[in-house]
Amino acid sequence: MNIAIDGPAGAGKSSAARLAAKELGFLYVDTGALYRAVGVAALRRGIDPANAAAVNAMLPDIRVSLAHKDGEQRVYLNGEDVSDEIRLPPASMAASGVSANPAVRAFLFDLQREIARSSDCVMDGRDIGTVVLPDAACKIFLTASPEIRAKRRFLELEQKGTPVPYETLLEEIKQRDYNDSHRAVAPLKPAPDAVLLDSSELTLDAVVSRVVLLARQAGEAQR
Ligand code: C5P
Repeated sequence: MNIAIDGPAGAGKSSAARLAAKELGFLYVDTGALYRAVGVAALRRGIDPANAAAVNAMLPDIRVSLAHKDGEQRVYLNGEDVSDEIRLPPASMAASGVSANPAVRAFLFDLQREIARSSDCVMDGRDIGTVVLPDAACKIFLTASPEIRAKRRFLELEQKGTPVPYETLLEEIKQRDYNDSHRAVAPLKPAPDAVLLDSSELTLDAVVSRVVLLARQAGEAQR
């Protein structure tokens, strides 16, 4: 059984999906990490992530994979653990750049499908309910206002010891929202059968409870 959670950057998808997966005993899969790894691969080669031809030429040389250690997802680029590097702001913008490229989406599609086929999972991303797992038992579209999302990202990065100014994060979130929802392939939008959940006024616990409840209801309905 698969649960798809989509929504814009910073809506709290990863935290909610991770905790809900734990409670359900499912695997948590953060698909943004895959796009970030491709973005990092481009940056390392000095390739503009928005340059589709250059990125496409790079794809045969890279391997992106995921592993789960103690419930934590790690992402690998040609065997190297890049889980920390992919969280830095340049990687966020690079991920957004490469994700508009259909060849990159196709490159990562099979990996995502295969993980979902082999385990019960809570998978988060932008197009999980619409493209990757259109038959997921439960689909949730999680949103929050850009200001709330920037504030959350700000606190998260500050806590990690890699602070970035709030205004920079807000700009970046707005830019990424625009890129993600205006691209031609797999734009960010709720699946017609997704449950919309606005986390602006909700605590993380409340969001997790709601996700777990929806997942359990979907599980019951499947039986
Ligand atoms: O979720 P996260 O912010 O880590 O994703 C980074 C970028 O990867 C997003 O801005 C988006 O452009 C892209 N992405 C995507 N499809 C997904 C997951 C992420 O296009 N399923």
